[in-house]
Amino acid sequence: MKIAVLRERADGETRVAATPETVTKLIALGAEVAIEAGAGELARFPDADYAKAGASVGAAAATIKGADIVLTVRRPAAASLAGASAGALVIGAMDPYGNEAEIAALAKAGVTAVAMEFMPRITRAQVMDILSSQANLAGYQAVIDAAGAFDRAMPMMMTAAGTVRPAKVFVMGAGVAGLQAIATAKRLGAVVTATDVRAAAGEQVESLGAKFIMTEALKDASGSGGYARELTKDEQAAQAELVAGHIAKQDIVITTALIPGRPAPKLVSRAMVESMAPGSVLVDLAAERGGNIELTQPGKTVTTANGATIIGFTNVAGRLATSASQLYSRNLVSFLETLVDKKEKALAVNWDDELVKATVLTRDGAIVHPNIKFDAVPAPAKPAAKAAEPAKTGATGKAAAPKRAAAPKAETAPAAPAKTAAVAKPIGGKVKKAAPIVAPIAKAAAPKKAPAKPAAAKSAASTAKGKK
Ligand code: NAD
Repeated sequence: MKIAVLRERADGETRVAATPETVTKLIALGAEVAIEAGAGELARFPDADYAKAGASVGAAAATIKGADIVLTVRRPAAASLAGASAGALVIGAMDPYGNEAEIAALAKAGVTAVAMEFMPRITRAQVMDILSSQANLAGYQAVIDAAGAFDRAMPMMMTAAGTVRPAKVFVMGAGVAGLQAIATAKRLGAVVTATDVRAAAGEQVESLGAKFIMTEALKDASGSGGYARELTKDEQAAQAELVAGHIAKQDIVITTALIPGRPAPKLVSRAMVESMAPGSVLVDLAAERGGNIELTQPGKTVTTANGATIIGFTNVAGRLATSASQLYSRNLVSFLETLVDKKEKALAVNWDDELVKATVLTRDGAIVHPNIKFDAVPAPAKPAAKAAEPAKTGATGKAAAPKRAAAPKAETAPAAPAKTAAVAKPIGGKVKKAAPIVAPIAKAAAPKKAPAKPAAAKSAASTAKGKK
């Protein structure tokens, strides 16, 4: 049983699907582990540490050759898998909606693509839940990013020179990321309020010491499986009225609202941003899915004419590449443990297991997931016989954020988006660009990519501060 981990090719992707710690665990499961040289570099895991853990480290072609399992963060190109065993399991975030042609190409290449974001949110699978592990870190990082761009102190400070009032932080959407944002802002001493459309979120918000605000007109917009449903027009208007009154008094706004299979709901209008005081900071964690704020420019930090800063990083978890890789790779090991016969130390997939049924997208040359439809005949994949060196695009850890949105959250059977045919647009449709009334901030915008030299990572944070 050979497990391969390739260097991520997507622009701006800093994470890696295995760490030296998880390599040890994979070897204990009976696997032989091959890591492409440099795969962990952007997450601060040197090749030597993988080798010390027992992995072989080499070029892409040697890494993938004969692999029975390929672990990945983002969906790899079919051509990069040439040389893997027939039917190899390719396990990672597959982001299938809007990318049906790419999924069809994986099917054609004969691999079994497994979408970790489709993992059912049941107790047994909590330890494999990549959406939760990554959203938790993103919620934390959103507050850190906001604090970095904020010109004032977050906590109340009583000094001989007078009192600094605490910052007011408003979190919109109190799911995994939102709750972590609330907890982080509270730890920094802010006065925190939060809203959500699910009434159940109120108790969780209050248990963290924040105030829950919700409009009377909107009793509860819980959908199935604990997720939110899309609001009606009237409900949207009631919510907008509530937010408009509240937001003008806030220093920092963090938006995290998502609805499975739908574009991110627009919660903060241009007028609302314009009502905020100069120096206000907004962080849009839904930027990758189009954004909750009308003026968000995905992948960019912008400042408005009234002096508000809107931070729209995509792949926020990737800004904490080390922690994110540690948690993500442990999620993968936990899932792999269910796919392996521990006694025989061999792959033994139970295709009837609900976790497998929910996550497998392709098998035996075809798309097998009921929610993924692709009618067009895909271009034939490269022959599997010859191991191809994948295109080198991501090694430099380019600052540009990954282009695609993460796939929508899934329950046991993930919700299909409005369109899933070959011509389907990505979830969230085309990312709406904010009108150019906002000027990009030259320095603060640099994402905290994890470049080769450790010192450079610090510079992004310091330039964010240094703009003042
Ligand atoms: P999510 O990322 O899908 O959405 C983030 C939040 O945005 C949600 O709380 C949602 O209600 C909220 N939202 C949607 N539209 C909104 C709007 N118009 N205004 C304000 N808020 C809006 O959510 P998530 O973090 O994936 O969590 C979804 C659910 O799954 C929660 O009930 C959570 O407790 C549950 N969950 C369960 C497990 C498990 O059992 N293993 C793990 C994680 C989360």
